[in-house]
Amino acid sequence: MTTSIIKNLMTVKERISFYENQYQRKPGDVRLLLASKNQSFEKINKVYEKGEKIFGENYLQEALPKIERWPEAEWHFIGSLQSNKTKPIAEHFSWVQSVDSLALAKRLNDQRPSLFHPLNICLQVNVDEEDNKSGIHPEDVLTLAKQCLIFSSLNLRGLMAIPKPLENKPPLSAFRIMYELWKLLRKEGLPLDTLSMGMSDDFEAAIAMGSTLVRIGSAIFGPRN
Ligand SMILES: *Cc1c(COP(=O)(O)O)cnc(C)c1O
Repeated sequence: MTTSIIKNLMTVKERISFYENQYQRKPGDVRLLLASKNQSFEKINKVYEKGEKIFGENYLQEALPKIERWPEAEWHFIGSLQSNKTKPIAEHFSWVQSVDSLALAKRLNDQRPSLFHPLNICLQVNVDEEDNKSGIHPEDVLTLAKQCLIFSSLNLRGLMAIPKPLENKPPLSAFRIMYELWKLLRKEGLPLDTLSMGMSDDFEAAIAMGSTLVRIGSAIFGPRN
């Protein structure tokens, strides 16, 4: 079990480097976040000891003991964000990738302890405009991004999306929309450096389309418990 996790990790990292080269990305352009939801401490420790330091968690209660165990890691909240959970999230994570309203951004800003570094945030985009899905619609992203600049305890870093899965092919057009949106915001002067897209089954296509941060779970840890 443990040897296969390390082997999987090496394979994923080799693939990321290979795709960077293949798709004319700069070496090191694409960072790896390990999506560790529902994964045991034992499994997380294996990759941590190999030097992996960026983790994403979806559920606050599950995340807190993990953050306490590995406080030096960079913890990203990637789950759906409820307003009654923003305070502990603002206090324990260094990134929140699932901000999708001005109200949530304001709560995170107000609840971020003032002595901490600003909280890094990404705006989550509902790129396929699905009903009942977290994220803002693509046409509202620029406005919200500009509004977020006034928050001194937040550092707007980029955009995140979880495209609707397609059968047997990567969600290329969703990735393309995200990349265009991200470029547009940068052209408007927003200092973004993060485009968070790509998971176990589609990170090649995401890297081809400009992702700077892939979020990988099952391809490394195996199926979730
Ligand atoms: C679970 C999860 C991932 C990782 O998914 P895999 O398919 O296991 O790689 C990535 N991003 C988010 C937001 C997730 O919830």
